[in-house]
Amino acid sequence: MPGSDVTATHCPYCALQCGMEIGPELVVSPRTDIPANASGALCQKGWTAGELLVNGARLTTPLLHGEPVEWEVALDHVAARLAAIRAEHGPDAVAVFGGGGLTNEKAYQLGKFARVALGTSQIDYNGRFCMSSAAAASIRAFGMDRGLPFPVTDLDDADVVLLAGANVAETMPPLVRHLTGPRLIVVDPRRTQTARLAWLHLQPTPGTDLALALGLAHLAVAEELVDEAYVAARTVGFDDVRTSLASWWPERVERITGVPVHQMRQAVRALAAARNAYVLTGRGAEQHAKGTDTVTAFINLALALGLPGRMGSGYGCLTGQGNGQGGREHGQKADQLPGYRKIDDPAAREHVAAVWGIPAADIPGPGRSAYELLDALGTPDGPRALLLFGSNPVVSAPASEHVAARLGALDLLVTCDVVLSETAALADVVFPVTQWAEETGTMTNLEGRVLLRRRAVPPPAGVRSDLEVIAALARRLGPRSESATEFAPEFATDPAEVFDELRRAGAGGPADYSGITYERIVAETGVFWPCPAPGHPGTPRPFLDSFATPDGRARFVPVQHRPPAEETDADYPVHLSTGRVLAHYQSGAQTRRIAPLVRAAPEPYVELHPDLAERLGIAAGDMVRVTSRRGQSKAVARISDAIRRDTVFMPFHWEGANRLTNPALDPVSRMPEFKVCAVRVERDS
Ligand code: SF4
Repeated sequence: MPGSDVTATHCPYCALQCGMEIGPELVVSPRTDIPANASGALCQKGWTAGELLVNGARLTTPLLHGEPVEWEVALDHVAARLAAIRAEHGPDAVAVFGGGGLTNEKAYQLGKFARVALGTSQIDYNGRFCMSSAAAASIRAFGMDRGLPFPVTDLDDADVVLLAGANVAETMPPLVRHLTGPRLIVVDPRRTQTARLAWLHLQPTPGTDLALALGLAHLAVAEELVDEAYVAARTVGFDDVRTSLASWWPERVERITGVPVHQMRQAVRALAAARNAYVLTGRGAEQHAKGTDTVTAFINLALALGLPGRMGSGYGCLTGQGNGQGGREHGQKADQLPGYRKIDDPAAREHVAAVWGIPAADIPGPGRSAYELLDALGTPDGPRALLLFGSNPVVSAPASEHVAARLGALDLLVTCDVVLSETAALADVVFPVTQWAEETGTMTNLEGRVLLRRRAVPPPAGVRSDLEVIAALARRLGPRSESATEFAPEFATDPAEVFDELRRAGAGGPADYSGITYERIVAETGVFWPCPAPGHPGTPRPFLDSFATPDGRARFVPVQHRPPAEETDADYPVHLSTGRVLAHYQSGAQTRRIAPLVRAAPEPYVELHPDLAERLGIAAGDMVRVTSRRGQSKAVARISDAIRRDTVFMPFHWEGANRLTNPALDPVSRMPEFKVCAVRVERDS
């Protein structure tokens, strides 16, 4: 246990939510009681997290049109403008955009604020850009989405792990310590730091992972590697999938993906021969206009081999953002209510409305998904005002120049932020808010383990929490004129009180936190949901006995490959793929302000193969212009044979990469196609 001058808490960044202690002088050190990083590991983002708390760029005064103002002035202005816009254009003229880094308490309160105080259906969050297609595929196959439906420590005993589109050596390095035992099969168009650790690296053309998964499953059938007993006992629908796989013979898949047949055979034979094996997906497989079907194809492969729901084996999605898992459970998503319930489920509406003290009819229906919401801002039928919490879409949204233009067309843009991010710089009003170690709240990590991120230091003077901003605005807005409810529902500001309400609102849903308390989280170093009652032990492996479908069996779903939404042509002859680097996190709003991280990765770059560079007359260090149908961006050239000859790579932590990316949406999850588009690459003379 830490001493009295040391606070046990968790990292501000990614979904591994490494345990850390914050001591005097804000020195950060790893905890050894949190299994994900019990080995004492943190990545360089974690080690330097204390600097976030004393950063000179910190906002401490509300800004109204760029000028510092008193809190009451800013709150009164926003409430008056929201009321006027609502009165003139209706409740859906006001939109809310949340984030996958917000605590569970904030995600819950934001959903309630949108539906109860504003009465708007227009709420979604940046997690839609993160793993929504894996979530949709998991719900389709297993009846429930819980990132990894097993503790990360289960990976320690695996014999083989197939990682599709996840560069964990850079995005969450401590996880690599759980992957040193198994044979790693990495699917990635680049020879990433993770691929360098692999026993086998499959390097497909960007946008062809779905074909590759179909080819692997075809081989499993052709070589009689299917676990027929498991398929018969625990699944339905395999016959249709078996039929649908017939045309994905390996030579055809090699032509589409560029992955040699013998490598596909090696991969599927290793997976089938393993006693314990896992198939894991990350953003590389998921961020596509066919992301749900791509993940479904990998799940079909895992089911055919008999992996999900077996001790020591399984399928899982490696969630990215700090609270990417909890952020999708408590109601900040356009189509969901707390407890990971569907917003159009009558029973869920009745249950949640009773907790909120309003008639179920007052809860609006589903709204627009994240990109569709951003795309509609300021249009005749779209929202006129946007409240943004913990998100920086000017850097992180696809077609980001278009998104910035839409933000500029609003009557009112309000952001809650810690620093003046690129998006906050465009806002009419900026509220300076507390950050991770300045406030207490729960986070649900990539395993579905609910953790307590504790306050370690007081916030700077002038700063308030997002919960206080929500409550202050709700108080000013008062009862909704169009609602039958004549009182303004209360919005608590104490995280523990909000958590208690969240548990009641989510009770009975898939993500049931009823039995979880702050005290239990501390005593048990986290509790896995579902945990439906006080004495319940929590559920580390929810699919061991049965899946969360009506009959308890997993669903095979037939899917077919299709090309990316945008293919290369004479004008845009090269694929662009995007991703992360070790030193930075998401849009970089935090990490680009931390000196050691900036020294480690000071600027954006374009990675290209030596052969492509030679053909284009580009040398290492040259300034390169990359152009897509949506915009242009410049960055320094890095020459590397780790990337395919037909592809360039750009990290997305800076403005630039997402000016180019394609907002084509997955029809099921509404995930944009971040991971592949067509570009032209030129030396910038
Ligand atoms: Fe751990 Fe992720 Fe934080 Fe790095 S960024 S220390 S991997 S939680």
